[in-house]
Amino acid sequence: MNSIQHFINGKYQDSSDGRTFEKRSPLDGQLIGRVCEGGQAEIDAAVAAARAALHGDWGRMNVAARVDMLYAIADGITQRFDDFVAAEEADTGQPHHVIAHAFVPRGAANFKIFADTIKNVPTESFRMDTPDGRGALNYSIRKPKGVVAVISPWNAPFMLMTWKVGPALACGNTVVVKPSEETPATAALLGEVMNAVGVPPGVYNVVHGFGPDAAGEFLTRHEEVDAITFTGETSTGTAIMKAAAEGIRDVSFELGGKNAGIVFADCNFEDACEGIFRSAFMNTGQVCLGTERVYVERPIFERFVAALKARCEAVKYGRPTDKGANYGPLISQEHKRKVLSYYAKAVADGATVVTGGGVPAMPPELANGAWVQPTIWTGLPETAAVVREEIFGPCCHIRPFDSEEEVAALANANRYGLSTTIWTNDLGRAHRMAEAIEVGITWINSWFLRDLRTPFGGSKQSGIGREGGVHSLEFYTELRNVCVKL
Ligand code: NAD
Repeated sequence: MNSIQHFINGKYQDSSDGRTFEKRSPLDGQLIGRVCEGGQAEIDAAVAAARAALHGDWGRMNVAARVDMLYAIADGITQRFDDFVAAEEADTGQPHHVIAHAFVPRGAANFKIFADTIKNVPTESFRMDTPDGRGALNYSIRKPKGVVAVISPWNAPFMLMTWKVGPALACGNTVVVKPSEETPATAALLGEVMNAVGVPPGVYNVVHGFGPDAAGEFLTRHEEVDAITFTGETSTGTAIMKAAAEGIRDVSFELGGKNAGIVFADCNFEDACEGIFRSAFMNTGQVCLGTERVYVERPIFERFVAALKARCEAVKYGRPTDKGANYGPLISQEHKRKVLSYYAKAVADGATVVTGGGVPAMPPELANGAWVQPTIWTGLPETAAVVREEIFGPCCHIRPFDSEEEVAALANANRYGLSTTIWTNDLGRAHRMAEAIEVGITWINSWFLRDLRTPFGGSKQSGIGREGGVHSLEFYTELRNVCVKL
């Protein structure tokens, strides 16, 4: 059985009071590890190490050396690729192809892209006139924010955690990471890579544990933390924002979504079915950018529902490495209870259950896993809980529509504004819809595709700030103004 320790100041260590918690496999409920449970003492030690590192070798390192180090981290991840894949598979139970082809490679890419960004970023400079005719040179410089708290979720743990750590380190900050209690393994493993490539102690720290009144909250309340970057639920974001108000710390938030998929009758039908299917059911629906509301133009509504149903009924449940398995469990029994409670609400509200709606029959060795069926509903009003609230499970409601204006209004009538995926072959309509839908990212005839140099983030209650490429510098650096009288 695994023992997962904190990584503080370059060393793996237990909690000072010896506390641990269980990590169970989502596949079968078996105990797969014990994780050290951090408290105030571990947060204090990690923040102190991160603060000290800012003033040590790391703080003195020039940009070129830091860029080399980020590339070395990316290479180190690639060298340990199988270990990262195995750790993520054990924590999440998700199919091998998703983890090995998307999530872990993105972890390495997150260091490279921000190494490239920081290497090439310009700063502005103005030669200004002065009354005495001598003039002045007014320019800006970017400095690291300092100690950055990184609080990450469980749904694509390595990719989402490194999406924050990469730019934070590229900009010269140090970090204290509090990974999700459900998925501690890859954050811990990354410490080995940091040591192997010579990242100075204290630059990258990991404290495991829980959120409220525990390691997560202690980190966000710590007065030596300069900024907080968080991915997770909107309600957690609210709590963190309150903590950040003490000491006026900056926040960057990537929060929940209740994303609309919109399918026009002029789409390429097969591409749209496949795209919507992936967006609703990949990673067992546990994707912030996933689609839980589908709107289909009336002439193709029945055909589309039938095609999506057929795809759902063809999924192959299984362990990550089972041949042909393309559908995993939810992250935990707790999350399974939440998703099933929404399945029950949909029925109570009068939904037509097109497919799914319950727990699949699994072989005895997987019977204690967090499995639920992919589920489609129709026939609900927009006021129903499963149409309004983020479920974060493998399910969607499908409703017909008749016009662009109608579907834009339906898509926008929600407190979230993270993403949308639109399927049409009418170029003008695609651009009109992209402007009309109030979200951070619009996909046209695609989903989950993005150049990492572009801005990413949510509108409305789906987030604060934009990260990606140079946009990340707004959060991870302090822009200072220098004026030189000539
Ligand atoms: P969560 O908010 O429950 O937990 C996320 C992290 O916050 C965990 O590490 C948790 O321990 C910590 N935490 C919880 N309460 C805290 C507190 N009071 N103070 C400090 N830390 C605290 O989210 P989750 O269930 O792990 O992840 C699922 C959610 O994340 C969904 O809402 C999903 O939409 C969202 N998400 C958003 C994006 C995005 O890019 N917008 C990406 C992935 C996931």
